[in-house]
Amino acid sequence: MFKDWLVQEETHKNNIIKVDVFDFDDTLVFTPSAKKAKDILHKHNVKAAIEGTDMIRPLDGHCFYYAYQSLEPPLVPEPCPCSMLNQGVAQQFYASAGDPRRMTVILTGRPPHLEKHIRRILGDFKMEPNRLVTVPVTSSTLPKKIEVIARLLDEFPSTEEVEMWDDRGPLKAKLYNKPEENHISEFRKFLTTFNSYRGEKPIKFKINEVPPRDVTASQLFQQYATQVGKEQKERKEKAKEKKKKAKAKKAETKKTKPKAKSKK
Ligand SMILES: [Mg+2]
Repeated sequence: MFKDWLVQEETHKNNIIKVDVFDFDDTLVFTPSAKKAKDILHKHNVKAAIEGTDMIRPLDGHCFYYAYQSLEPPLVPEPCPCSMLNQGVAQQFYASAGDPRRMTVILTGRPPHLEKHIRRILGDFKMEPNRLVTVPVTSSTLPKKIEVIARLLDEFPSTEEVEMWDDRGPLKAKLYNKPEENHISEFRKFLTTFNSYRGEKPIKFKINEVPPRDVTASQLFQQYATQVGKEQKERKEKAKEKKKKAKAKKAETKKTKPKAKSKK
C-alpha cells in the first residue's frame, strides 16, 4: 500500500512539466492594505484599531501583514466577497490546479501562523493549491521566495516551464518610488542564471506583473510626470554645472596663459 503510494507519488513528481507560482496579496486576492484597513475599521467603529495597537496586534516588527486581524472580518469578510478576488489571475489559478501535469503553488510573504486564514479565504473561492508556502517572520520575503523557486526546480526536474504571478514588479516599484519592491526583476535574474547553468535545455519562464488595483490612470500619469520632471531638472542642473565648470576652466587657462608665455 505504502509502496504503491510512493510509486504513485514518484510518477506524479516526474510528470510535472510546468510549475505555476502565485503570490497571494494583491495578486490573487485584493486584501486590504494597512492604510485601507484603517478606513474600514473606522467605518466599523473599531475604536481600538484606530487608537492603539490592539486590533492590529503586531506580532513581530510591527508588521500589519503579520497580524491575524488583517485577514479576518471586518477587513476580510467571511465568506470573502468576489469583489476581492482578482478574476483574471483566479482563472489562471483554476486552470493550473485542474491540470495534473502542473504544480500549483501559492507563495506568499505572509507568515506561517496565518496559513489557516489564507486557506479559509482560498476555500471561499474553492481554490486548492498543491502547495501553500509562507515565509517565517524571521526571514525576508524576496530571498525566501527565490529559495522556494530553486527548491521546486530541484524537486521537479522534469519541469519545462515556470510561470509566476506577482504584484511586486517594476511598475509598483516605480509608482511608489520603492526600488526594493521590484521582486519580479530578481526572479527573472535568478531564472536567467539558472538557465545559463542548465546548458542545452533551458526552461521557459514567464513572470506576469499584476498591476496595482486602485491606481487610476491620472495617478499613474502624475507619478510618471513627477519622475520625468525630476529627471529633466537633474539633467538641467548637471548641464548648468558642466557649463559652470567649463567656464571656470577657461578662465583659469586664460589666467595661466601669459605666465606660460613669459616662461618661454
Ligand atoms: Mg503581493
